[in-house]
Parts: sequence; C-alpha cells; structure tokens
Amino acid sequence: MQPIELGRLRVTKVHEMDSPVPLLSQLPGTTAADMKRLLTWYDQPDEVNEDPETSFMTFSVHSWVIEVDGQTILVDTCCGNDKPRLLPEVDHLGTDYLGNLRRAGFAPEDIDLVMCTHLHFDHVGWNTRLENGKWVPTFPNARYVFGKRDYDYFRTDPAGEELHNQAFLDSIVPVMEAGRGELVDEDHVAHREIGDGVWLEPAFGHSPGCCVINAQAEGAPALFWGDVIHHPVQLIRHDLKFAFDADGVAASQTRKAVMERVADNDTLCFPAHFRRTSAGHVKRDGDAFRYQWIDNT
Ligand SMILES: [Zn+2]
Repeated sequence: MQPIELGRLRVTKVHEMDSPVPLLSQLPGTTAADMKRLLTWYDQPDEVNEDPETSFMTFSVHSWVIEVDGQTILVDTCCGNDKPRLLPEVDHLGTDYLGNLRRAGFAPEDIDLVMCTHLHFDHVGWNTRLENGKWVPTFPNARYVFGKRDYDYFRTDPAGEELHNQAFLDSIVPVMEAGRGELVDEDHVAHREIGDGVWLEPAFGHSPGCCVINAQAEGAPALFWGDVIHHPVQLIRHDLKFAFDADGVAASQTRKAVMERVADNDTLCFPAHFRRTSAGHVKRDGDAFRYQWIDNT
C-alpha cells in the first residue's frame, strides 16, 4: 500500500497481523439482515457471509505513521512480540512488525512521537520490546503520550481487565520508568501550526479514556478513530455492542457521533482494525452508513 498524502500530511500503514475470530463472539447482536445488508458493499468471502453464526470478524492489527513538518508520529503500536497474554491468539507473538516498519521506510530511531488512542493491549504492544530479559522502549528517540484517564484506570488493575493490565505492566510502565512517557489530557495538542496540526479528542466508551486523533495540514482532515468502530457492520448497526466495550451505551453514542460527523464529507478515516487499505470515507446509506475504502494499492 502506498502512503496517502493529504496536504502536508503523509500517512503510511504498517501491518502487524490479521486475527480472525467468530463474529458473534465480538458483536453478539448481529443479525442475518445486518449481514445481508453488509454484503452489498463489503465482500470478504473468507470473513463474512449471510449467516452471522458462521461469519468471522477478522481484525487487521496495524499502526499508522503520520509525517508532518519534519515530525514522524506513530499512532497505535499493535500487540508487540514476546508478551505474555491471557488471550492465546496474541500470547508470545513473533511477528515481523519492525521489518514491516523498516520496509515502509522507518527505523525505530526515526519515530519522534508515539500516540496511543487508548491503552488496550493491541494498541500499546510495540511501545516496548524485550532486551536481555527487560522491557525497554522500542522507539529510543520518541516521546510517548498516554491519555491520563485510561492511565489512571488501568493502573488500578480493575477487575475484568486482566489482559489490558498485563499490557499496562509491560508496555506502559517501562516507558514511564525510562522517562519517555507523558500523561496528557484527552484534548492534548501534539503538533500545531496555525490552523492545523495533530490533536487528541475524547471518544470515551470503548475504554474509559478512549480518544480519536485528528490530523490536518493544508488538506482534507484525517481522523484516526482507533476502536470507536471495530468492524464495517457497525456502520449499519451503530448500536451493536462490541463485547469488550467498557461502557456499551457510551461507546454506541460515540460511534454514532463520529459517523455523523464524517459522513459525506472529505474527512479521510483511518480505522484501527479494518482490512484492505483500511482508510476510507463514510457515506450515508438510507437510515445507516456504509464505508468506501480508498484504493491506493
Ligand atoms: Zn483494538
């Protein structure tokens, strides 16, 4: 996939892995009617069919690299290697993510800033890597910004969040201990020239401090929506609760608000888990929405 240029912004996708899981285990309310409607514009025969019982949800796990005004910003850092995880699919991974990053043109030393939309295990993993039995920051020259609200939540080791607490301990704490981490408010501005920049915006629900990241620089706006929407079928059913939303009602309201905001305008969306090119535009479709992937392969 080629980098995407939006004014002075250049955005590159760096893939870690695809992870298929039964659809109803993630989006339990999905109906056959939803699938039928989805298939009119989402055709991935290895993933979805008319029967939600036999359909899969295949998570693409990837990062986005934003280059703007000499800054190289890494958005979300996937699952990471060698990490002990309660979820077998992501336990002690050994992917070639850093090779993919290099092939996209970036060495770990090139990253100036790491931004995580939220502190779930699949968004913070490459913050650190294992070196001589110790977790060290993967991006030695980067400043890492973490939203305060998620940080304050996960540091308490909340019940039911053991998987994300594992990630907190090996992917957030070592960054803070190395003096590379900065806790920020959920409207933090990471970079700003007059009238544009890169900034966080609250999008609470999926996790208590979940954010989206806005970026704009003399071109169409870019919206890195993280996990506000996990799967294309949620554009048809914004009310579908994702099994791992911390607050399902708030997550659904946030999802609807984001879709309303970007529908039928030039905002280019960068979801955290959509497949293909991932990037695309949201279009109104009767009483719901649909997604139009950009084609730049
Ligand atoms: Zn995620």
